[in-house]
Amino acid sequence: MKYSFKIFSIFGIPVELHISFLVLMLLIYIIALFNLIPSVNILTAVLITLIFATVVIHELSHSYIAKRYGIKIQRIVLLPIGGISEMEEIPKEPAKELRIALAGPVSNLIIAVITFAILIIFGTFLSAILSGALYYFTVVNLLLGLFNLLPAFPMDGGRILRAFLAERMDFIKATKLAATIGKQFAIIMAVIGVFFNFLLILVAIFVYLGAEGEYRSVVVSTLLGDEKVKDIMTSDVHTLNPDNSVQETLKIMFREKHMGYPITEDGKLIGIITFHDVSKIPENNRDMLIKEIMSTEMIISDPNENLVETIGKLNRNNIGRLPVIENGELVGIISKTDITKILDKKEPKLD
Ligand SMILES: [Zn+2]
Repeated sequence: MKYSFKIFSIFGIPVELHISFLVLMLLIYIIALFNLIPSVNILTAVLITLIFATVVIHELSHSYIAKRYGIKIQRIVLLPIGGISEMEEIPKEPAKELRIALAGPVSNLIIAVITFAILIIFGTFLSAILSGALYYFTVVNLLLGLFNLLPAFPMDGGRILRAFLAERMDFIKATKLAATIGKQFAIIMAVIGVFFNFLLILVAIFVYLGAEGEYRSVVVSTLLGDEKVKDIMTSDVHTLNPDNSVQETLKIMFREKHMGYPITEDGKLIGIITFHDVSKIPENNRDMLIKEIMSTEMIISDPNENLVETIGKLNRNNIGRLPVIENGELVGIISKTDITKILDKKEPKLD
């Protein structure tokens, strides 16, 4: 992730702080030290630091177990909204996923029990600040542990539920069911949020989108696993000539109902033109040639490219289609619609 700084390394895993987190912490400490906002005192700053420590422990626990299964951990990045363990994809083995997902919340619950025990046993010997901090640390760990156990993606509970289901049914169905349960949870959370706490509505939206996103990515990676571009691309490609005018191009687009065309010269691809490009040209200027406005920086695909990779390219660059090139020649075109159609056909129905 951009703009994050390594603060330390543990078990060979670098822990990085994102700049937004750093700025936030500094700000809170400055506000507390100089008494800029009466309600933010040094205890608030300490509390924020404790939350930070809690999140680190949580993420480290996931990473530690994952590492024991031989999964590579790139790093842990801490953001104001929580931590992210950047690891390579967890193998679709429910038993492993279950343990990796459980590790985070369980570590927080164990800490909560320990700090609570210390408070009960030694509470009377501790200074007010120290027992205050211990008390907060207990509460933060308890809340973080329990909250993450809610059975909703992208929280750990969603993964635990999916792993539990995946031992009893196929992986996609298990994900679909877990995502559906997650979304229902999100809706309930949002309704509760309307009455009690608006922050809960934000969390609900995050959970709802997370559940859907997790399901989509599993569907894509599982169903498109061994499909290649050449299996579904359109080989009969309509191309345009660089000397076509904007006016002509618009006419062709309306007639053929395609939103984008490759532009070739002597069989070689030299650019791409989309409806978006031509519709920007004012009406009195439409005798302009498309070679003047085509995009020449092209993202291309290969007939042997895996469709998972192709859909990644389309999404990352927010484009609808890619020219398919083999040995420098344009051999086809692949669009997001083509891939979506395949997905719709293959997607299992829940019954
Ligand atoms: Zn977690």
